[in-house]
Amino acid sequence: MTIHHPCEVAGILAEAKELLMIHDLSRMKDLEDKSQRDGLTGAYNRTYFDETLRREFNLAMQYNLPLTIAIIDLDHFKSVNDTYGHVAGDSLLATVVKTLFDQIRQDDTLSRYGGEEFALILPGTTLAASRTLISRLKDSIAAIAYKFDGGITIQITASIGVASYYENATHFQEPKDLIKAADYALYAAKHAGRNQIMEWSAS
Ligand code: GH3
Ligand code: MG
Ligand code: MG
Repeated sequence: MTIHHPCEVAGILAEAKELLMIHDLSRMKDLEDKSQRDGLTGAYNRTYFDETLRREFNLAMQYNLPLTIAIIDLDHFKSVNDTYGHVAGDSLLATVVKTLFDQIRQDDTLSRYGGEEFALILPGTTLAASRTLISRLKDSIAAIAYKFDGGITIQITASIGVASYYENATHFQEPKDLIKAADYALYAAKHAGRNQIMEWSAS
């Protein structure tokens, strides 16, 4: 860089400092985002899920807003690992998450709740309004044709349990009540034969 006059130096230094600060801020943001995600799939991690659900639950309770959650558990995933190996299972998990992310809104939170279990938080969404999306998510998982090594195609289905705060507000005192309800519905979906959606209801 050619400096034509000493008085330019101060301006160049100020600009350089500003650029460094922007660079540091964006690195900090990247690090923060990384710390909130699951390394394998890129879905949000359990800590982020817990914080988000607590916040959304409090908002729903305070302002009487709709809030729906879904727990998505892949069907017979153990047999995918047993048949094709854990590496294929891992890639399939990442593919499932990408498929789900492609369809949800920015306000929705998709997180990896456990091994092959994912939790979705849909703020501002009633049970009725969640149906089209959740049904589309289930179908899109079943439509994945994951091509693995030698060209073999792996397919998978998912069972989904849904619970909604708005419709049953008096039943839910804290976030974990909503999770329990969605889990209960998920168990019913598994029991009813898998590859289906069950909604929790007070009855
Ligand atoms: P179900 O339809 O009842 O859900 O059957 P399932 O086989 O999916 O359920 P189960 O809970 O018995 O097994 C879950 C399997 O998911 C077992 C475990 O090996 C696999 N799994 C969990 N986390 C990971 C992971 O990070 N990578 C891979 N490849 N497999 C995983
Ligand atoms: Mg499973
Ligand atoms: Mg499971």
